[in-house]
Amino acid sequence: MSHCILQIALDTPLDSLFDYRWACEPGSEPQVGQLALVNFGRREAVGLIVAVKHETDVPADKLKDAIAVRSQLSPLPERWIALARFAAAYYHRPLGEVALPGLPKNLRLSTTVALDRALKKLAKLPDAHDPMPTDMPVLNAAQRQAADAIGGALGFSPMLLYGVTGSGKTEVYLQACAQVLHRDDAAQILILVPEINLTPQLEANIRARFPGVMLATLHSSLSEGERMLHWLAAHTGRARIVLGTRLAILSSLPNLKMIVIDEEHDPSYKQQEGLRYSARDLAVWRARQLDIPIVLGSATPSLESWHHAQTGRYRRLELRERAVRDAVLPRVKLIDMERDKPKEGLTPTLMQALRLRIERGEQSLLFLNRRGYAPVLCCEACGWISNCTRCTAFMVLHRPERRLRCHHCSLETRIPHACPTCGNVDLQPLGRGTQRVEEGLQALFPQARILRIDADSTRRKGSAQEAFDTVHRGDVDILIGTQMVAKGHDFKRLTLVGVLNPDTALFSQDYRASERLFAQLMQVAGRAGRAGLESEVLIQSRYCQHPLYGAVMRHDYDRFAGSLLEERHQAALPPYMYQALLRAEAPELATAIEFLEAARDAMPSDAVVINDPIPMTMTRVHNVDRAQLLVESNSRPALQAFLTEWVEALRALKSRVRWSLEVDPLDI
Ligand code: ADP
Ligand code: ZN
Ligand code: ZN
Repeated sequence: MSHCILQIALDTPLDSLFDYRWACEPGSEPQVGQLALVNFGRREAVGLIVAVKHETDVPADKLKDAIAVRSQLSPLPERWIALARFAAAYYHRPLGEVALPGLPKNLRLSTTVALDRALKKLAKLPDAHDPMPTDMPVLNAAQRQAADAIGGALGFSPMLLYGVTGSGKTEVYLQACAQVLHRDDAAQILILVPEINLTPQLEANIRARFPGVMLATLHSSLSEGERMLHWLAAHTGRARIVLGTRLAILSSLPNLKMIVIDEEHDPSYKQQEGLRYSARDLAVWRARQLDIPIVLGSATPSLESWHHAQTGRYRRLELRERAVRDAVLPRVKLIDMERDKPKEGLTPTLMQALRLRIERGEQSLLFLNRRGYAPVLCCEACGWISNCTRCTAFMVLHRPERRLRCHHCSLETRIPHACPTCGNVDLQPLGRGTQRVEEGLQALFPQARILRIDADSTRRKGSAQEAFDTVHRGDVDILIGTQMVAKGHDFKRLTLVGVLNPDTALFSQDYRASERLFAQLMQVAGRAGRAGLESEVLIQSRYCQHPLYGAVMRHDYDRFAGSLLEERHQAALPPYMYQALLRAEAPELATAIEFLEAARDAMPSDAVVINDPIPMTMTRVHNVDRAQLLVESNSRPALQAFLTEWVEALRALKSRVRWSLEVDPLDI
């Protein structure tokens, strides 16, 4: 028996490539892309074979044998490995740390029981090979043009589908999919959506439209067994349509022929921990790699994508009108809270509008992006406020649950009976969250059916779906919710949207805050009047003259995006600048700052701007202080070249401070 050497990527934080020996006859070596079980340290781990060699630098007495090769699983395609390599290089992480977490957990177990079971199950699924869609609605001219452009595109063609809310973007995707599936009887299509609470409606639509096609879904609320089965369906090419959230961008799709990214502006395409990747950006890379079309859809595109469309890198497709006959965009009005004084957070104008909807049997939606009862509890006698003991943040009052909760470190306490400092028993909630608005509404409209949807009301698995079903069934008069209710949903009887308290975002330090607020308001406004009923959006504000609100009133994304881009250009901010952020965490702020100073001095450079370290806006979270250092360049290659060397220099500092590097950060 002779041997070969397997180079295996393992999920480890430092360099992740390790050599192992494997006994095999020449000609029957394992293949690149197969998974292998090995001993690593004191544990067994599953890794990815990235090279098969005959020599190694590892001394013979140190070289270990691999335990097993997962031969029942076909190798991950070379192009998939290339995607993982790109992501690893671009985000400056080891290959194994990118490639392996993207696989289902059940593939990474020491036993193959779960894998064998899933393969058996997959084999039993009936083959579905009929791409013929069921009755397709007749598209309007703009939709037709867009669907044909997408469905007919060949080669790498990035397209921005810019369509107002309710313009029927979904229908465009579906008809473009039909063309691709029809043309190529092995073609796979990947459809990404931002959040899981948006998938059921779309999933049902796809299933109904393509009954003869296998659909796989990939998102974080699947059980491990389901996830494995769906992943395998994609990997074996049997699933022709894969619908998933950002993690699905790393799925194995041997015959991928088109990518759709719905609501492409959504921040949840960016992973905010570990490998901080942008699924949207990786998708564009993957489309270029495979030389296939990709469509990015939104009513409020990200400035990055809009910029690409303006400069011609992306082809722009437009849907300027709503698709349903007689449906027009809602009228948007501002309510001046200085003149129209609110009670329970609601101005008389908004209350009157709610009353009218109840009388007419129509639905209303109140949007407040703040969950809990009140953001802070305070003592008016001595000035005590409910600070979190572990974070630079307030403990939020959750009255129904009788708790104070920190939304950053999850610390929970009972609501104190009296002020911890002075003993005053009359503690006051300050400000207003969704729970408090709900309570106010119940008092004001005792006869109305009121439903709150936010992260607290939908903790239990499946409860978000139940809640949305209740709204769709018409069993709700007033819906109150956070950004969970703002996006995607097609509520047919909704004719009033009220926006409470959007002003705070106008004055945020975060330069992306206005882009985000604008998108959020356009999205939530877009929930109204989708089925042709006359509808309006009322925004309560103390700054009615602000140009952002003016743009929302005119539904004028184009001009607003133009002015934001102009500002970004002047201020040398993305998309005119490329950024990376080095973060450091330590028990004491000074330690974190010292590390960042050392990092700054470790590698002077003329090609990039290295800013000074600063504490993060929310400095302390869970007893850890956090600071950051921003590196910028107007050239992406220059920034990347710098980062590659810098990461080595940072490792060489051998600091005990926890640090992480984020490329293209969204929050700085
Ligand atoms: P968007 O995603 O652009 O906000 P949707 O795809 O949810 O919009 O479509 C909005 C509504 O318009 C849906 O109820 C959909 O069924 C309907 N619709 C889409 N296209 C057409 C069409 N060509 N004719 C009639 N109704 C349509
Ligand atoms: Zn007090
Ligand atoms: Zn906290």
